[in-house]
Amino acid sequence: MKTDVLIIGGGLSGLSTAYHLNRLSGMTSLVVEAGAKVGGQAVSERVDGFVFDQTGHLLHLHHPYGKRLVRSLLGGNLAEHCRDSRIHSHGTATRYPFQANTYGLPVPVIEECLAGFLETVHWPRPPADGSFRRWCLAQFGSGISRHFMLPYNEKVWRRPLDEINTEWQGPFVPKPRAAEVLCGALTDQTKAFGYNTTFLYPKQGGIQPLADSLASRLKPGQVLTNCRVTAVDLEGRTAQVVGLGTVRFKRLVNTAPLPAFLDLAGPLPRPIGSARRRLRCNRVLCLNLGVARAKVSDRHWIYFPERKFPFYRVGFASNFSRNVAPPGASSLYIEAARGPGEKESLPSLERRFMDGLRGCGLLRPSDRVLARQWVLLEHGYVVYDRDRAPALETIFSFLRKAKVESIGRYGAWKYSFMEGALLDGKICAERLVKG
Ligand SMILES: Cc1cc2nc3c(=O)[nH]c(=O)nc-3n(C[C@H](O)[C@H](O)[C@H](O)COP(=O)(O)OP(=O)(O)OC[C@H]3O[C@@H](n4cnc5c(N)ncnc54)[C@H](O)[C@@H]3O)c2cc1C
Repeated sequence: MKTDVLIIGGGLSGLSTAYHLNRLSGMTSLVVEAGAKVGGQAVSERVDGFVFDQTGHLLHLHHPYGKRLVRSLLGGNLAEHCRDSRIHSHGTATRYPFQANTYGLPVPVIEECLAGFLETVHWPRPPADGSFRRWCLAQFGSGISRHFMLPYNEKVWRRPLDEINTEWQGPFVPKPRAAEVLCGALTDQTKAFGYNTTFLYPKQGGIQPLADSLASRLKPGQVLTNCRVTAVDLEGRTAQVVGLGTVRFKRLVNTAPLPAFLDLAGPLPRPIGSARRRLRCNRVLCLNLGVARAKVSDRHWIYFPERKFPFYRVGFASNFSRNVAPPGASSLYIEAARGPGEKESLPSLERRFMDGLRGCGLLRPSDRVLARQWVLLEHGYVVYDRDRAPALETIFSFLRKAKVESIGRYGAWKYSFMEGALLDGKICAERLVKG
């Protein structure tokens, strides 16, 4: 079998590459997906009457073309929501983001947060070492850092925050002005902050229809599932694919996690192998739960910075779409992260999750669980530590010479979203067409 462009991975970035190549050129392309269906991380499963995503997958669209593309793919199957997210802290739920909304917390906590923040305004101290920890202290002060920024991010990154840098945080961490911080301490401020103040979500079918619609616009046989790539010969321009054997290609687009792709393309020159070992990510463990009670919460999701809770976020999918849970029931997703080597059995973690959900009042002792599903994401969040940028520079210089594109959240080894994956595919197709 041969093709002009072989695309590894039928997630959104791989499908988008093929879709845009079809629109821009007569080049042939083939998408090979290891899993049983398309979508990658943006897939949904039906379990006992519920439709579960792999944690929450909401559409935050910022690019005009991204908006047009998603609307054309989902048509009438889209609803827009104004975010309602909270932070559970000191037994109360404050509005997101914590740094702008301390109203409702115990007075000593508000005082500590305000005093620390005002110090940063009056005596600004540039962050000394580029670390996320120092940056939080310089940007928000000691109180906001102690009560939210540091414990929450430690739960997500599972690395010392001195080792994490600030490259990833750009649009993702809102930086309110002093007047907004004061207003949000004195009043229940309703102003929305951040990159995701509104979001779109399919009315039916969870997030799966997005990838399904994209795949349906490809040519028959252009995307093949259950076809894992097991080896790549970059010089010989061939790949070994389960079910297909040897596939010859002129150009290669990878969207699988970069370290795994490099392992397929080995043996690697020594500097590339050593750069590959410096790419790190966390794992995300998500418990999807179907509960026999309508409106377990009115919110879209709640952050849990406190260490006594074993999860960092709980979301309520049935508040994005009524159709992902049967009538009278609610759908929740509960997320925790783990670093390499951190082990705990799922039954033990599930017990701690359930205790935490009851402890914060989300679940009642009488609540019945109708459906449950564990989702284990081996690649959750790419860790932005000091090694990442130089390692990527070395690896991408090697891949450019080998005429390989490596794109998407894990192919490019970055923090990005579904819209980013769709746009990565478009840009990659344009680059391939230009040669
Ligand atoms: C916990 C979590 C929450 C998220 N929440 C949101 C959100 O709310 N909104 C949002 O916009 N984004 C969210 N994202 C990000 C979003 O999931 C990704 O940006 C997007 O889905 C990435 O698409 P991709 O195609 O780049 O990668 P992937 O979806 O990972 O696709 C890569 C594909 O390659 C396949 N593959 C791997 N190895 C091989 C092989 N050897 N052979 C063949 N195929 C292979 C995989 O099976 C997979 O299908 C979240 C991500 C995580 C982890």
